[in-house]
Parts: sequence; C-alpha cells; structure tokens
Amino acid sequence: MAKSSSSSSSPSASTIITTTTTITSNSVNHHNHTHNNNNNHLLDPKAFEEAGWVIRMSELKLGEVLGKGEFGDVVLGTYRGQKVAVKKLKDSNCKAAQDYLTEASLMTSLLHRNLVQLLGVVFDGPTICVVTEFMAKGSLVDYLRSRGRLHVTARDQIAFAADTCAGMAYLESRRVIHRDLAARNVLISEEGVAKVCDFGLAKDPSLGTEGGKFPIKWTAPEALRYSRFSNKSDMWSFGILLWEIYSFGRVPYPRIVSTALFCLECSLINLFLFCNL
Ligand code: ADP
Repeated sequence: MAKSSSSSSSPSASTIITTTTTITSNSVNHHNHTHNNNNNHLLDPKAFEEAGWVIRMSELKLGEVLGKGEFGDVVLGTYRGQKVAVKKLKDSNCKAAQDYLTEASLMTSLLHRNLVQLLGVVFDGPTICVVTEFMAKGSLVDYLRSRGRLHVTARDQIAFAADTCAGMAYLESRRVIHRDLAARNVLISEEGVAKVCDFGLAKDPSLGTEGGKFPIKWTAPEALRYSRFSNKSDMWSFGILLWEIYSFGRVPYPRIVSTALFCLECSLINLFLFCNL
C-alpha cells in the first residue's frame, strides 16, 4: 500500500463531495462539500504525492483486462507481490480524469471491510491509474448471473445484503452519499466478501437524469426529479439492490424501458403531490 489510510482520519466530506483539495497527514481532504452545479475540479496530483498515495508505474506489473469501466479499462496488476486491480485512464486532462481523481481522493479517507480499498494512484505522463485491492470474484451482478440459483445459496444472499449494508452504513456514518449503488458497483473478494465500490463519485452535473447512462432504475424519485440525493435516496437504491440479489441479477423493472420509467416516476410523484394537497 502506498500509504495506509486510517479509520481515525476524519473525512471532511459532508453530503456529496466537490473537489477543492487540501492535504492533512495521510488523506486527501475535500472542502466545500455539498454537490452543486458549479462543481470546480481542482484536484491536483501533487496532493496525492504529498499525502503519500502515489505509486510509481515501475512498481506495478500489469496483466489481463478485468473489465471495462466508465473511465477506461480495469486490469489485473501485481504490486509488491500482491494482486491488485488497476483502473486506467488515458487522458488526464479531461474532466472525466478529474472525476476519477475525485473518487480516488475520497477513497483515501475511507477504510472499511466492506468498501473496496484504495492502495494508491499512479501518475505516468498522460496516464492516471487508480490502484485498488483485487476482488477475485468480480462484480456482484455478474456473480449472481453466472452462478445463478444453483450455486448462490440463501445464506450467500443474506451475506451479500448484510455486507453491502455494512459498507453503506459506514459511508453514511462518514456522511458520504454514494448515488450509484447497484449490484454492478459491489465487488466480491476471493473469500466471498461483498464490498461497495465507486462510492462518492462526483458525477458530471451536466449529465441529466434522462441521459442514456444515468441509472434511472436504481435512483429514488426525488433524486431523479429534483436531484435530491441523500442517505434516503441511497436507501432506495439499496432496496433495488436487494431485488437484484434475490432475482439473481435480473435488471429491475424488466418490462419497462428506462425512459418510460422516468416518465412513470414523474407521473407518480405528481399524483402523490396532488393527493397531498
Ligand atoms: P466504472 O465504475 O468506471 O464503470 P468499474 O469500477 O465498475 O468501472 O469496473 C468495471 C469492471 O471491472 C467491473 O464490473 C469488474 O468486472 C472489474 N473490476 C473493477 N474493479 C475491480 C477490482 N477491484 N477487482 C476485480 N475486478 C474489478
């Protein structure tokens, strides 16, 4: 590990992080925390260097591709004799890169058995890599789909739900809102422990809720409609995740396409508001 984070380090994130960065001992801290539409992306690689979170490319051996992420490929690596996952992003100047660093900087201040652990960040010319612990059994949704009801027991399902719940409870205790909790963002370790990843990712505020990639089926109505993300909207997503676990990885609301669902939710909210007048 480039630098071990400590559970006693205090993240200053209150609701959703934004990205002005300063350094304390070993975490990259955030200030001005409430997510807003004027998100300034001021993360600086130096912040990671000074906080001791930088890994040299020469210390990493890269191997096979594990998966395709929103920001680039995730590949298997070896770091100090340990298997790791390396999320690679080619263009460090684009806004996606800054979002990527925002996620990594939040990860420096969080430590829990049910969160995927950050090990360090690599800055190699235009390439940025975020190095995390390797989760041998891949994403929860793929795990459920590939093993199915023949292999995934009721005990496994309860354990996945409880693990995810513990990770999310920890995030809530640190006042971090996930905003994209889904079975695709939970990874399974070699030992079968479920860990939440992609937490606290500061999404591009220009990305509307109707955008093709927006996880409409996992998002609470008030978050969809008013961008009101909170521990409560994370709880909604957790409910959808439970449905994913117990349906062995099916896509929620299977017969409804996402755009139709968006309209349906807006109509239901309208009806609800009307009934409460
Ligand atoms: P993004 O959030 O940018 O879309 P992900 O973090 O979801 O990317 O990664 C995409 C895929 O890569 C996952 O579905 C999983 O298969 C694989 N992957 C990501 N992180 C790890 C990890 N730490 N260990 C093992 N596989 C991983």
